[in-house]
Amino acid sequence: NTFADFPLCPQTQKGLKESGYIKPTEIQREAIGLSLQGKDILGAAQTGSGKTLAFIIPILERLYCLQWSRLDGLGALIITPTRELAYQIFETLRKVGAHHDFSAGLIIGGKDLKFERTRMDQCNIVICTPGRLLHHMDENPLFDCVNMKILVLDEADRCLDMGFEQTMNAIIANLPPVRQTLLFSATQTKSVKDLARLSLKDPKYVSV
Ligand code: AMP
Repeated sequence: NTFADFPLCPQTQKGLKESGYIKPTEIQREAIGLSLQGKDILGAAQTGSGKTLAFIIPILERLYCLQWSRLDGLGALIITPTRELAYQIFETLRKVGAHHDFSAGLIIGGKDLKFERTRMDQCNIVICTPGRLLHHMDENPLFDCVNMKILVLDEADRCLDMGFEQTMNAIIANLPPVRQTLLFSATQTKSVKDLARLSLKDPKYVSV
């Protein structure tokens, strides 16, 4: 039971191997197969469970190996509560995606808005914090996300605990309704369930 047994394309296999990932963790085993089928996922998973790869692998596979190869514009959006988490996701994506041809960017503040906006227009995979993303959407109502296929809500409970409920709702309202959504949360509070209802369609529940 290793990643080599998964139906992943050679570029992803190579990136995983070179990054030292051999055996999938439980959440990866459960969530990757379902996400590759295009299902929405409600994942109950803590930091440290390996949930980052559980969404990075399906993003790379679905955007670049399965359905939409040579996709233009923004294909996947990952929303995570903090800059530190955004950096970690970016690093993992960079390593595991080393043999895929895509551009990724961080929208997390700390850079001027114009710089971030240019990045956002050029990137296929954007990793962002909620407040900063909404700020861009407000400044730029023509924010082009018509090609967006996959939305990841990472550590959704923490986003909500930080007071981002309205922000997340507003972001989701701005995104294309036809998409795949993967929501990960350590706890399943009422507000997480509300967000899940708003953002997921007929989700598969994955718990580790
Ligand atoms: P995460 O929960 O995604 O933040 O991952 C927690 C830690 O586990 C990170 O340091 C990952 O590099 C590591 N990790 C994730 N998946 C695997 C795996 N399949 N094999 C070994 N380490 C892993």
